[in-house]
Amino acid sequence: MSFQVFGLPVSRGVAIGRAVLVASSRIDVAHYFIDAGRVDAEVSRLRAARDAVAGELSLLKRDLPVEAPAELSALLDVHLMLLHDDSLTGATKQWIVDRHYNAEWALSAQLEVLARQFDEMEDDYLRERKADLEQVVERLLRALARGPEAVLVPVATAGARDFAGEDPLVLVANDIAPADMLQFKGSVFTGFVTDVGGRTSHTAIVARSMDIPAVVGAREASRIIRQDDWLIIDGDNGIVIVDPSPIVLEEYRFRQRQSGLERERLSRLRHTPAVTLDGERVELLANIELPADAKAALEAGAVGVGLFRSEFLFMNREGNLPDEEEQFEAYRAAVEAMQGLPVTIRTVDIGADKPLERMSVHELRHEHALNPALGLRAIRWSLSEPAMFRQQLRAILRASAYGKVRLLIPMIAHVSEVRLTLDALARAKQQLDEAGRPYVDVEVGAMIEVPAAALMLPVFLRYFDFVSIGTNDLIQYTLAIDRADESVAHLYDPWHPAVLSLIGGTIAQARQLGKSVSVCGEMAGDPAFTEILLGMGLRSFSMHPAQIASIKQRVLRADTRKCGQQLEAVLRPDDGFVVAPGRQMPPDSQTGLPAATSML
Ligand code: PEP
Ligand code: MG
Repeated sequence: MSFQVFGLPVSRGVAIGRAVLVASSRIDVAHYFIDAGRVDAEVSRLRAARDAVAGELSLLKRDLPVEAPAELSALLDVHLMLLHDDSLTGATKQWIVDRHYNAEWALSAQLEVLARQFDEMEDDYLRERKADLEQVVERLLRALARGPEAVLVPVATAGARDFAGEDPLVLVANDIAPADMLQFKGSVFTGFVTDVGGRTSHTAIVARSMDIPAVVGAREASRIIRQDDWLIIDGDNGIVIVDPSPIVLEEYRFRQRQSGLERERLSRLRHTPAVTLDGERVELLANIELPADAKAALEAGAVGVGLFRSEFLFMNREGNLPDEEEQFEAYRAAVEAMQGLPVTIRTVDIGADKPLERMSVHELRHEHALNPALGLRAIRWSLSEPAMFRQQLRAILRASAYGKVRLLIPMIAHVSEVRLTLDALARAKQQLDEAGRPYVDVEVGAMIEVPAAALMLPVFLRYFDFVSIGTNDLIQYTLAIDRADESVAHLYDPWHPAVLSLIGGTIAQARQLGKSVSVCGEMAGDPAFTEILLGMGLRSFSMHPAQIASIKQRVLRADTRKCGQQLEAVLRPDDGFVVAPGRQMPPDSQTGLPAATSML
């Protein structure tokens, strides 16, 4: 029977495919596709794990002390029975053979299927056997982890080749950590649905950068959707249609074709310079996560990289962080790929919903930090790891010998942080001088993403060459709304006058002081804000490569003189724009906006 699930639309377009449920936070395992030639070996791995667990359980049973209650022995029998039941190991084998899942993934997929069957049982005793099943699966997973490592092909490199002729697949999960999402880049999945997450959670951001339809915050999706269900993911409206009727399917296939044509039409703007109707030049830059993304940036017609989120180089490493050499190679690869265009490399922004280790937002929030968004994140983390920070700075500086590099510092809020950062940079340069390594004196910029930084911008601008406004965090910290929490997503409001006035004030002040200013948060890639931002005086936007064409179209049709009027309407005092009592705010001559400090 067809039904719909609603969530937040985070990445545009329509995906149609069969659901692949990745394990909920119940059991966290790695998900890989194996090569066709490795299927037999993977099945043998599973068999070996099953035999090992059977041995363990038999041994436990044999060694039970005489005084142990009889139930214990009966319980071990139940575990042995579950272990040998065809619905567990037999069906798991089938996921490996049919879908080429690695054994751990196959096991967790089958656990999901069986757990639901147990949940639906009328009989209390039988329903409670689900816990036994989970224990057996956990034993199997441990046995797999102990066994000889199979050669696994990560999803990212598996590609569609092994699945030619099969149905397209869409991924459904309770939550996907940004690090996992990164592994899905270039994978077989054509869409994503998660139960949790907000519009600007990093999982959503990575989905957008992959330009794959996605819906997050769909609450119960991973519980009510079943493995292999046919799904339509409507990433424009935040709707997931489960088991659609043929007529609905046809309607969405039509929409899919239409949006394909629209993209093709927009891609013709690739070489057109972004100039408004009244002749204002606008710089459209790309946000990237990995050096390989530079290719997409160039293909989309970006005139540089406005934000390289370097923290993605530090993820999925099981604690082995990239050393200076490895980082240098990655930065150099991005710089060389951009063929002389500027590349703005942000120092690591680890923390909040981007933990170093693979961890869901849910786990993070509940088990690891009381309030990770307000914790040891970004520059705070870097300054707490001075050797690591200098290592990254040296690697970035060294890459500057191969092209135009700019350095960007995230989440600055205190002048003391600025001083410590500049000291670390001076020290890194001194170390490179001593080692005789070439570098260029790169421009240094600050991300304006904490209200404190926006409100005392002139002080910060004494130290920095440019600023980049991180609207995702600026909204989060101005409105006190966790950007990754779907339960408050309705309050995460980029149109809030307080947010717009901080952004407008930052742009106006930076321009007044002759410093370049750009926006690299998700607002820059949202066509709904293009005119407002132009009206504020913004001339530099940084976004996912896939968004560049539609923003360019908006710019080409805009007249910045009219954009100013539009802005005034949005910031009308009776709409909540705060005017300090007794103070007349002279509008900024260029933008009609008050300066940020006059709002204090
Ligand atoms: C932002 O906060 O707007 C930003 C660009 O940084 P990130 O999304 O990586 O936090
Ligand atoms: Mg940020």
